[in-house]
Amino acid sequence: MIDKILIANRGEIALRILRACRELGIKTVAVHSDADRDLKHVRLADESVCIGPAPSTESYLNVPAVISAAEVTDTVAIHPGYGFLSENADFAERVMESGFIFIGPRPETIRMMGDKVAAIRAMKASGVPCVPGSDGPLGDDPEENIRLAREIGYPIIIKAAGGGGGRGMRVVHTEAALLNAITLTRAEAGAAFNNDMVYMEKFLENPRHIEIQVLADEHGNAIHLGERDCSMQRRHQKVIEEAPAPGIDEETRRFIGERCAAACREIGYRSAGTFEFLYENGEFYFIEMNTRVQVEHPVTEMITNVDIVKEQIRIAAGEPLRYRQEDIRIIGHAMECRINAEDPETFMPSPGTITAYHAPGGPGIRVDTHIYNGYRVPPYYDSMIGKLIAYGEDRDTAMARMRNALNEVVVEGIKTNIPLHQDLVTDAAFKAGGTNIHYLEKKLEER
Ligand code: ADP
Repeated sequence: MIDKILIANRGEIALRILRACRELGIKTVAVHSDADRDLKHVRLADESVCIGPAPSTESYLNVPAVISAAEVTDTVAIHPGYGFLSENADFAERVMESGFIFIGPRPETIRMMGDKVAAIRAMKASGVPCVPGSDGPLGDDPEENIRLAREIGYPIIIKAAGGGGGRGMRVVHTEAALLNAITLTRAEAGAAFNNDMVYMEKFLENPRHIEIQVLADEHGNAIHLGERDCSMQRRHQKVIEEAPAPGIDEETRRFIGERCAAACREIGYRSAGTFEFLYENGEFYFIEMNTRVQVEHPVTEMITNVDIVKEQIRIAAGEPLRYRQEDIRIIGHAMECRINAEDPETFMPSPGTITAYHAPGGPGIRVDTHIYNGYRVPPYYDSMIGKLIAYGEDRDTAMARMRNALNEVVVEGIKTNIPLHQDLVTDAAFKAGGTNIHYLEKKLEER
């Protein structure tokens, strides 16, 4: 087994990884910026190393600093968490070249999935359903592009192969706007991602976001842990996630889940991963794969009783998967609210000192957070300060527990989006289940 892990991240996920290491009897190294000396996991870790000043480009994204910290602490493996360097293939390669284990997929896999055109091609070849589209990068022939768009049917969306974080996309409703949109998206993609390759897809108008969690080892075993519904979004950022997805039956879950597991075997995927789909009129359309642990992984853990972070570590240590597909049973329902330090009306970040914090509790409540009384939320990083997870034997119970937890939790000194969540868990359409990815934005507009 791995003897020491360096956690190349901060906040709640760093603490989550530390807890998994503790359970497995693995020593931990925390790396942190100047602004993060007071992080909970830094205090709990066996060792800690300051890797640079507050801006993440000089600390959490500073590859040589992270590698040096691993060297001076005799680290065996590096867990990248999510965000920061987690989907950086060059980083994964550097980690391995320096003699450490990267807790994640092979660098080639990360690189392929980071190129959306290559990812879609691989998925299609493995039998994963994709959005009808150009089947590759768009060329420079205007006639050919016009023909393609007609064939797919408007509206279409032009997307950058190297895009991410909801950037590098443009919806086109009419033929008159097509060529200009391709030129603009190409120019923007070249400037933003240093890659001007763009492709075309059918634009789905009212989809839900449903994703499949997978686990795969390096011995060719792969399983899925069912789906999550992450349709409650604002500006492509997930706000609430739940599992299972309302209205998805056992047969549908098995159909799409098995295709994802098969694709993992086909491409030689290793570690935890997520296949993201848009779901409309009963059909799944692959949009991208995330080659890391996700923020919303706890809802899957609650309904399957599988610890995804511990499994990532075991897989990285070379162990074969401990579960076969038939061992995975989905029981009950779980929901997660992302708690952000932000104004619930304007969504402006609200960093500062937490003057009072009281955690919620009771049956089925899990709180993944690094905050504590007196903790100062720094202004430099993502505004998410924690996740409230509620589990119940059915969706109504999970939702009732979430309502209670949101009423019980106290965070003072900074503004949070808890009022927004309180509003959402009493919202009639959300309570009914199955709202699409535009629901929250429309609701906010009507306010
Ligand atoms: P990113 O890597 O930037 O997150 P994605 O490909 O995951 O890019 O797309 C982000 C979001 O853009 C999706 O969650 C969805 O809301 C929207 N989107 C992307 N492709 C389509 C499509 N073909 N039809 C409708 N919406 C889309």
